Amino acid sequence: MLLELSDTQELIQRTARDFATREIRPKAAELDKTERFPDELVRGLAELGLLGVNVSEEYGGAAAGVVAYSLAMIEVAKACASTAVTMAVTNMVAEVIERFGSPEQRQEHVTKITSGEHLTGAFALSEPGAGSDPGSMTTTARETDDGWVLDGQKQWITNGAYAGVFVVWARTGGPGTKGISCFLVERGTPGLTIGKKEDKLGLRASNTVPLTFDNLRVPRSALLGELGGGFKIAMMALDGGRIGIGSQAIGIADAAQAESVRYAQERKQFGKPIADFQAIQWMLADNRTELDAAKLLCWRAAALKERGVPFSQEASMAKVFASEAANRICNRAVQIHGGYGYTREFPVERYLRDVRVTTIYEGTSQIQRVVIARELLS
Ligand SMILES: Cc1cc2nc3c(=O)[nH]c(=O)nc-3n(C[C@H](O)[C@H](O)[C@H](O)COP(=O)(O)OP(=O)(O)OC[C@H]3O[C@@H](n4cnc5c(N)ncnc54)[C@H](O)[C@@H]3O)c2cc1C
Repeated sequence: MLLELSDTQELIQRTARDFATREIRPKAAELDKTERFPDELVRGLAELGLLGVNVSEEYGGAAAGVVAYSLAMIEVAKACASTAVTMAVTNMVAEVIERFGSPEQRQEHVTKITSGEHLTGAFALSEPGAGSDPGSMTTTARETDDGWVLDGQKQWITNGAYAGVFVVWARTGGPGTKGISCFLVERGTPGLTIGKKEDKLGLRASNTVPLTFDNLRVPRSALLGELGGGFKIAMMALDGGRIGIGSQAIGIADAAQAESVRYAQERKQFGKPIADFQAIQWMLADNRTELDAAKLLCWRAAALKERGVPFSQEASMAKVFASEAANRICNRAVQIHGGYGYTREFPVERYLRDVRVTTIYEGTSQIQRVVIARELLS
């Protein structure tokens, strides 16, 4: 693909690729089978600067930008989608605290995320009754003399059982989305209960848990950004997060395509490799075309974000296209493998299970289309 990478982008891509190939990929099938959270791999990512790819060096990040982040995410997701989502959410949390946090909050938490001291970050927006519509959340934060008291529940929180810091949204009063604020909650705070991990179709080595806040007290200094400004923070963070999830989907699909090309050349039927059949060739050609289109959309959104110009619509376009294309590609990969693709003997069944969620989280495909249409009609 014609995209001239800078030296920094190439370095990040190579670093992520080497680590993913050497350390992550050999463990991926076992991690999926045993549902083990790969904490040693997460520490390895921290050592390489991959938990803060777009975070400044002042706070321990790689300061390599958003395109580099996408490139790194693709490489990690090629090897293990569970490790990739752990990395995606942690990068997102580091970026959001760097962007909206006070100097003390940045020093305390961003540095601990990028160094691996926090292990991961968690992003606690969704609730049992508020998914696509986070503005309807019911978790509350009540002001006291010396801080805030949080009560409520969050659902589907990636990294929840392993996070050193949680970015939490709660109602602080006032109407609609203007009554929502954002807080930093540290691991181990009394009143924070981490629930039973979800038994998921895919991403089985990633950690997804519900959280309960029961009379959870945080100091005044835990408020992130302005009082009542939480919803805006969430929307801005999700715009960037969509580039990460689009890239994750691309990585999974890229791996599925590589397996498909290899298998099609090896597997013989009717006395010749199945790659000789036009029906198979067309699937491989569609995969390649859609993969490149997805990459270009993601990297355009990443480049816009890097330049500091609006990129919300482009991020939604990239996310909806990449995730839906990746689902088609992984599905075709199973088809190309025939019956063997339906077994654990080959990795394509894992890719298909792992990729499924990419059209759901960080905003469903339907919500991406709402964002795209809203902007084009405004
Ligand atoms: C593995 C996993 C990890 C996750 N990690 C996190 C995390 O770390 N932090 C976090 O905060 N959340 C996380 N989520 C939550 C995720 O973002 C939500 O699941 C997602 O936003 C959808 O919300 P929902 O599941 O409540 O579905 P719903 O909002 O109930 O949607 C159900 C269906 O209705 C459709 N729909 C809803 N509204 C509209 C509309 N206006 N127009 C058209 N269709 C609509 C949806 O597209 C969907 O098809 C995670 C989810 C999963 C599965």
